[in-house]
Amino acid sequence: SAHQKVALITGANKGIGRAAADQLAALGMTVLIGARDPQRGEEAAEAVRAAGGDAHALTLDVTDQATIERAASWIEERFGHLDVLINNAAITGSGQVSPQDAVDQIPSTVDVDMVRAVFETNVFGVIALTNAVLPLLRRSPAPRIVNVSSGGGSLAICADPDSPLTDLPASAAYSPSKTALNALTVQYANELRKDGILVNAAAPGYVATDINNHSGFLTPAQGATVLVHLATLDANGPTAGFFSAEGPVPW
Ligand code: NDP
Repeated sequence: SAHQKVALITGANKGIGRAAADQLAALGMTVLIGARDPQRGEEAAEAVRAAGGDAHALTLDVTDQATIERAASWIEERFGHLDVLINNAAITGSGQVSPQDAVDQIPSTVDVDMVRAVFETNVFGVIALTNAVLPLLRRSPAPRIVNVSSGGGSLAICADPDSPLTDLPASAAYSPSKTALNALTVQYANELRKDGILVNAAAPGYVATDINNHSGFLTPAQGATVLVHLATLDANGPTAGFFSAEGPVPW
């Protein structure tokens, strides 16, 4: 039988991850809805199925190695392979506030334990999950990894005094975590290039979700399009890149 493509999306119970699940399901992929809350994961999977897609909820907290290993085992038993990994789950560390209000992020006064917690989810969680499912991705004919980053992770943008982002308070937690994720994206891409695994970072744009108290101006569906594009690249597609819907983003 034809190879059924399977995509795992972390933090897919809501926001941009949830919209990416809708779009990949509409393309015919089986989507695995990673969610740290099983009930909210199941509700999202049910909604994707109600729209005609194939979806399963998967309990997955990227800071909890036991849930990572259980999820990888479940995918192995159920499908034997994975085609797409979208590392989407993230926290700001500031609670659900708009970036303009993110005073908790200011470098000179930041709580180092908060920085640690943000890196635990946004960076270390990505390494732990990616490595757990890499053997399954290697069984795909066209494996793709998408790391959901942010324009705030771009050193080029943050160091540019004319950039609109420089009007926002400086950030010692969230933005550096995305810069680290960008760095990891390049390192994974370089290791996995010879294996045909394309690894790219995505900047979804400023999207109205819980992470910014719905202050963004794009819809989750609009924010998810670049994730889906990078998840469905053909063999000639880029790797070690950083892209928004408009094209390449400077590192
Ligand atoms: P949301 O807050 O709506 O979604 C974040 C998701 O991540 C939720 O499902 C949340 O789960 C999940 N999550 C958080 N921590 C963990 C964890 N430890 N394990 C598993 N899942 C976890 O935000 P967005 O949809 O906006 O964010 C999605 C991605 O897009 C993030 O990487 C974010 O940094 C990035 N991004 C967003 C922008 C925007 O403007 N919205 C701009 C640039 C980048 P739960 O529901 O349980 O909290």
